[in-house]
Amino acid sequence: MKTILLKNRPKGKPSVSDFEFVEEDVALDITDGEVLLETVYVSVDPYLRGRMNDSKSYVPPFELNKPVQSGIVAKVVASKHNEHKEGDYLSGMLDWKTQQVSTGEGLNKVDPNKAPLSAYLGILGMTGLTAYLGLTEIGKPKAGETLVVSGAAGAVGSVVGQIGKILGLKVIGIAGSDEKVDLLKTKFGFDEGINYNTTEDMTAAIKEAAPDGVDIYFDNVGGPISDAVLFSINRFARIIICGAISVYNNTELPKSVSVQPFLVKNSALMQGFIVSNYAEKFPEAIKQLATWLGEEKLTYSETIVEGFDNIPQAFIDLFDGKNKGKMVVKI
Ligand code: NAP
Repeated sequence: MKTILLKNRPKGKPSVSDFEFVEEDVALDITDGEVLLETVYVSVDPYLRGRMNDSKSYVPPFELNKPVQSGIVAKVVASKHNEHKEGDYLSGMLDWKTQQVSTGEGLNKVDPNKAPLSAYLGILGMTGLTAYLGLTEIGKPKAGETLVVSGAAGAVGSVVGQIGKILGLKVIGIAGSDEKVDLLKTKFGFDEGINYNTTEDMTAAIKEAAPDGVDIYFDNVGGPISDAVLFSINRFARIIICGAISVYNNTELPKSVSVQPFLVKNSALMQGFIVSNYAEKFPEAIKQLATWLGEEKLTYSETIVEGFDNIPQAFIDLFDGKNKGKMVVKI
């Protein structure tokens, strides 16, 4: 059995040496009410970086020398549980381990016949829910409005943009390479794309792509990209603060423009959120996402890395934009 522990709290960008790989020759036993799980897919997500710091947040930090946890799809390989049978697949927060014992609490059964198992960590899982609920609950989109999405070629961003198109918005995506900008337009149906790595004046580029101004900004990255969007917001704009990956590895407080004048002048709303705020809406949101997938109105990309030992590197690669769509590790 292999386990990955958090060895050090990363300073700045994490490195593989912040993790410890442990291999043990053990046979795991289960008792009544338990299942033995074998890990099949592991989700790596930017928010895990925050849990590696020893600071107060919406979830407690990871403990040093304990397994890292993330969204995982696992197969039941032995069961003494009434509901979960051998051969079932379960999804939920689990340890970075090749095998583990669970009571099944907090895990949901997922069906490999309805969707590929990895999709339950992406479009039909946390990232799909984040895209749908963030955009609809806070963005309150109206057909004809203009939506800007940062981190647009990633797991959340690529779904936000597509939902925007389904709902009749003009959609502009910001991403880190020409290849990703191309993907936004050809695969995900965005109207415009901006490569922030090759654009010198982001403020001008956003004004040019959104001549009627920006009604909704779905912010996945924070930092200078998001500062530039502020110069184009319209009256009553909604700015959805989903994440801020550009500052997650900062060791000093970032310098930012003051948002207040932009918000006051435009009577605009800026709201952060955590997807679990909308937990009661998960069933209806998953139903909607699955319907759109079935109707081929929605599609998704995945970057699948192979091998348990590559989980930390796959996580680190998120900060270098090495993924298109959802980054998952196949065990
Ligand atoms: P993702 O977008 O699939 O992957 C991260 C992407 O961020 C990379 O591919 C990279 O794309 C971009 N990036 C990395 N460093 C950057 C930088 N310095 N400046 C600009 N872009 C950078 O990840 P995700 O899972 O979909 O998450 C996206 C955001 O949503 C994250 O901020 C995450 O924390 C947040 N999130 C929030 C919630 C919530 O409940 N609020 C839930 C899920 C995710 P490029 O090549 O384009 O740079």
